[in-house]
Amino acid sequence: MATTALSDVLMVSVEKLAIAEIVQHPVTGEKALCSLVAFKKGDVISNFEAENVLSEPTYLTVQTDEHKHITLSPSYLQNINHSCSPNVFFDTTSMQLIALRQIEANEELTFFYPSTEWEMSQSFNCFCGSKNCLRTIKGAKFVSSQVIKSYRLTDFIKKQFKKG
Ligand SMILES: [Zn+2]
Repeated sequence: MATTALSDVLMVSVEKLAIAEIVQHPVTGEKALCSLVAFKKGDVISNFEAENVLSEPTYLTVQTDEHKHITLSPSYLQNINHSCSPNVFFDTTSMQLIALRQIEANEELTFFYPSTEWEMSQSFNCFCGSKNCLRTIKGAKFVSSQVIKSYRLTDFIKKQFKKG
């Protein structure tokens, strides 16, 4: 069975796809998505579309408008975890997953949840380990405009901030 070193735990390979691999923590069962290839900043990693459109968020949905929360197709993209120093971005206007910086093969793909989520259904404590870690992730609504402006945001989240 293939394993991938993620943080300092040996993650177990669950499913290997063309460009990425779903891995799982052997104890907690938590899943992550690791890139199998390198990407340059600005590369389109994948196109995506709405499998379903829900009016309320779940822990798997991505917000595209005020009462629109999509489940992702291809569904393996829902294994992308949050980081306060993300390397990918879900552009919900172009419906493309974009590399925010150079990504190496075997690197975990992460996105900044508040870049798409205004108010999350479940907040959680972040242990991403980055210097700028926000600790508690609840959605863009709860992040100061000073902090949020350092992140790439969807058109929907930008619109929410303009409303004030
Ligand atoms: Zn964090």
